[in-house]
Amino acid sequence: MFLKWLRKAPKRVYSPPKREYSLNPFALKGAPPPLSDAVKSDIKSQIRSLPDVPKNERNFAVEEAIICVQSGGDLARLVWALGEIGVDKKRAATIARGVNRRAGALQDVERQSALGFTEAIWKYSGSPCFRGCLPDDKADELDTLHRNANNFRFPINKGLLVGSAYTRPGLDWGCKCTSTPIFPELDD
Ligand SMILES: [Zn+2]
Repeated sequence: MFLKWLRKAPKRVYSPPKREYSLNPFALKGAPPPLSDAVKSDIKSQIRSLPDVPKNERNFAVEEAIICVQSGGDLARLVWALGEIGVDKKRAATIARGVNRRAGALQDVERQSALGFTEAIWKYSGSPCFRGCLPDDKADELDTLHRNANNFRFPINKGLLVGSAYTRPGLDWGCKCTSTPIFPELDD
């Protein structure tokens, strides 16, 4: 407890990069809906499991990751935050993209379930998944599985059995796949 007081976290303030054009605030869409507790806690466990993030910087990194997702995918901000704690830019970009896409996939599931959808179709993007995120041979192996999953129908709450585990499009870092929910009355 006492040590915690001594090791006070440094104050860090993010200043967004200057843009060449100014944003028209009236052209902006309404604020995105707040993140659910489930999505927040998933972001938290993703960040906490990263070997790149030192233990004493976890809270900072988690807060910044949540802000990044909550603001609709402010990748530059999370890349900055990870840079502040010593993560190199390329790796930080991989983490920022992974965290955002995964959170987006989880939010899609929540939205689709809330709208009454129970099943969806897996859509392979056409561009290889996992390139640059995993060693090439592992990336190719998993990409083949995702490519083969194209057009398979799966329960939204469970996901599709891809290889040896159930997963959903966009959930695994580096996955570019998406899903199309099925209208129960129209498509059956
Ligand atoms: Zn994929």
